Amino acid sequence: GDKRLEELNVADTTCGYCAVGCRFDLYSDGEEILAARPTDEEDAPVNGISTCVKGKFGYDFINSDDRLTTPLVRDEHGEFREATWDEALTRVVEGLGGIRDEHGGEALSLIASSKATNEENYLMGKFARQVLGTNSVDNCNRLCHSSTVAGLAQTYGYGAASISTEDLELADCILLTGSNTTEAHPVLATRIKQNVRDGADLLVFDPREIQIAEYADQYSQIKPGYDAVWINGITRYIINNELYDEAFVRERVTGYEPEAAPDHEAADDREERVEKRETGFEAVREAVQEFTPERVEEVTGVPHEEIVSAAETIAEADACVFGWTLGLTEHSHGTENVLAMANLAAITGNLGKPGAGVSPFRGQNNVQGGGGDMGPLPDNFPGYQDIADDDVRAKFEEAWDCDISPEYGYYTTQMFLAADEGDIKGMYIIGENAALSEPGVNHAEAVLEDLDFLVVQDLFVNETAQYADVVLPACSFVEKTGTFTNTDRTVQMVNKVMEPKGDSRTDWEILQALANRMGRDWDYADTAEVMREVNSVTPLYGGITHERIKEHGGLQWPCPDEDHPGTERLYTETFNTDNGKANLQGVGYSEPAEIPDKEYPFSLTTGRVLYQYHTGTMTHREEGMMKYTPSDFVEIHPETADSLGVESGDLVALESRRGEIVVPSQVTDRVGPDNVFVPIHFAESAVNRLTDEEHLDPAAATPEYKVSAVQLRAAGPE
Ligand code: SF4
Repeated sequence: GDKRLEELNVADTTCGYCAVGCRFDLYSDGEEILAARPTDEEDAPVNGISTCVKGKFGYDFINSDDRLTTPLVRDEHGEFREATWDEALTRVVEGLGGIRDEHGGEALSLIASSKATNEENYLMGKFARQVLGTNSVDNCNRLCHSSTVAGLAQTYGYGAASISTEDLELADCILLTGSNTTEAHPVLATRIKQNVRDGADLLVFDPREIQIAEYADQYSQIKPGYDAVWINGITRYIINNELYDEAFVRERVTGYEPEAAPDHEAADDREERVEKRETGFEAVREAVQEFTPERVEEVTGVPHEEIVSAAETIAEADACVFGWTLGLTEHSHGTENVLAMANLAAITGNLGKPGAGVSPFRGQNNVQGGGGDMGPLPDNFPGYQDIADDDVRAKFEEAWDCDISPEYGYYTTQMFLAADEGDIKGMYIIGENAALSEPGVNHAEAVLEDLDFLVVQDLFVNETAQYADVVLPACSFVEKTGTFTNTDRTVQMVNKVMEPKGDSRTDWEILQALANRMGRDWDYADTAEVMREVNSVTPLYGGITHERIKEHGGLQWPCPDEDHPGTERLYTETFNTDNGKANLQGVGYSEPAEIPDKEYPFSLTTGRVLYQYHTGTMTHREEGMMKYTPSDFVEIHPETADSLGVESGDLVALESRRGEIVVPSQVTDRVGPDNVFVPIHFAESAVNRLTDEEHLDPAAATPEYKVSAVQLRAAGPE
């Protein structure tokens, strides 16, 4: 524009889209964001001077015409009308407080927002327990990486990436699976591609031949839903050919007894599933024996030569990073997939050294911090402190001056099933578009419709807010100060560059006002003060204050005290387990809950595209991005297209046991002939009408977004 940059407000801040954690300076004239420019490189450890299209241009939503600027309440005809904060908050107190008083706090649940800051998420967890009296508080981590958190925490001790982003450039080998890195985590993809250009080996295992596969030394097309099988196939080859890192296994992994190793030939015949998972290296050795070359090829479609070449590449590398996203985790057995990956990384000694480690790429800007570390979780307080632990609970009961039940609350996915049974009667949903993002949204919509009381706090009247009794207008990240924690555990500052639009308020201010109307006396002056409370009750964040973050340009947890420099890489000396060693678990055969059959012959998998973000509440308000991807679509293989008689652009109806959608087709051999792919971004097509809300991962309650059995039908020209 005409305005000169130096006349504008400027703040260095952290991107509000994805969890890569890019930092840059934002310029504003007080109305809108006019430019994003590189910030001081020291303060941008992940991205330096680069950003992706969303971080650079994705700000029209902030000043969009339909941004909520005042609270809304239902009038006597059931229509929304504008209200004062006083009236809206009074209604919320009556609605939530009424249910609490009549049915007990357990009849309420709160969905926290991984878009919000750490400080706000800490307060969301505290609000649920202290003010509402429920442990049913959770967030979108349940829909994506909760199985990563469960799998890694069980084996290594921390449910997070062990690496720093820089390790993507130090690795000799990178294995990527279930990660459409160039589209979902663009700046990480750039760093990976740079390393590949410099000679690192890249192995990609994915059902779709995604763009990053073009850079790979090896791309293997896998059948969706059988990840533990091909991973175990690689592990079996490495163990049986003695290619594992013997010294590392001996010192750092439990249960290594090479003298007691079983006879491999005899073990090859073992058919039955390993029922109860045993721990330790020998348990892994035994569990993987059923994954013979023939079996792996038959189940996953990956030829044995590809298993062998991947195994040898990993074993020969000095340092290997194992990167994954939701293709590995969004399954009814996602935790087992992650356990299998954790085994492979550990037996090859790829942990705790430069260029090596496990790297789940987190999705939402602050899902690592707000969605996990800050403990708006039904089973954990901040810093993954177990609510069932009496000492831990006593600490929080004292700090928060309230009684807390030792019983875990409902996970997000379970809240919707519990509401069906009448066990949840009221919900408080903050910055989460559950009516589009939950699995089986026909079911989710019915649940939201039936709740006795629903309050939604958001920037927009999104699909979920359509069901609300009260809608509270919240602020975006450019209108507030606090911290986000990115995918490599770096806690970074978010700095305000604009005043809140209209009468909107920050999440923490809204929570404080509500807490005080519901009988508490919160008096935080700012988020720095909230963070000091986090420091005092959360050893993982003990030394992470706003002052120190500014001084260091980001701090990586664990950071137990104010003299601690933060932790670049996890597990350099020991694992965070009782015995200090990696407690590997044998993982047997698992398969999707719903397997394609005669009636529903195709396997549907869902995912993201570069120019859109999640349910689109932000990116649909960006003209530029809408030009590139104006709607969802279905990728179908040319053979499938032939059999249906459709060409690219023709409409295709997809039907599962739970619903039906119609989308334009893109005919492409990116997907295999038995698979189809649909992105998750548009309400009109709402692919989650097809997914399944019932079959959840037993350890993490993650739904199986990545495999649904569907049938296809031509539905006419566009
Ligand atoms: Fe933002 Fe992620 Fe893009 Fe970086 S890669 S600019 S964090 S959306």
